[in-house]
Amino acid sequence: MYLRKNNYHKARLKGCRAHAATGWIHANPLPLTKFTNDQFKIASHIWLGIPLVNRQFDCKFCGTKMDIFGAHAATCKSGANIVKRRNSIRNYIYSQMKIANYTCMVEKKYLNGNGQKPADIYVESLVDCRPTAVDVSITSCVQKNIVQNVNDRIYQAADEMTRIKENKYKNFIEQADCEFIPFICETFKGIASKARDLIRKIAHDQKTRPKRSFSSIMARIQKYICVKIWKAVIEAVIERLFWVKDMVLDAG
Ligand SMILES: [Zn+2]
Repeated sequence: MYLRKNNYHKARLKGCRAHAATGWIHANPLPLTKFTNDQFKIASHIWLGIPLVNRQFDCKFCGTKMDIFGAHAATCKSGANIVKRRNSIRNYIYSQMKIANYTCMVEKKYLNGNGQKPADIYVESLVDCRPTAVDVSITSCVQKNIVQNVNDRIYQAADEMTRIKENKYKNFIEQADCEFIPFICETFKGIASKARDLIRKIAHDQKTRPKRSFSSIMARIQKYICVKIWKAVIEAVIERLFWVKDMVLDAG
């Protein structure tokens, strides 16, 4: 088992301590934010570190060992979930930018003329009033390499992914002559500092709308991100547990 329990729970508890990570628990039972009973039970088990199944099994999508806590489901690169959840967060951030009256577009191509994957969201004027490419990724605070090397830093996974993205796109950004913001979230809702800065800016630029305060907009955006990520992770867990129903522990 790759998840040494003490390390796993240390990484999990750091995820729980991330700013506004409890957004899914406090979400109102509205159409976009409510959880079904089964969704809430699975999320509660993951949040509290309670095993979902009585032993490991092979992930139906990639063949890797699925751990008893469901952590693999959040990082499995096979199946459609990992793309769907990224697109869901990308589309949500894009919608919030439009509310803030940004001139932006999704998946703008050929910024540097060679077809390299460009901007998940391209904003014509953002950082220092310059064109800015926003790259959205979801990582996991309980993924294998984080658990094995867990330290005391909250946002460890998000910060490491931020560095990876900045290195990966360094040359591309120079060629494209635009700014770059890696928008990285963790599956327990931890959000890397540059992504938090972007949310603050969007909330600030939205607050000119009547009867909206900066803090209420911030809270709403963070809660929606939190709920969307949790629902995607739960869906990924359910997709994998479906094949091993006899091993599923009572989540009641
Ligand atoms: Zn898998």
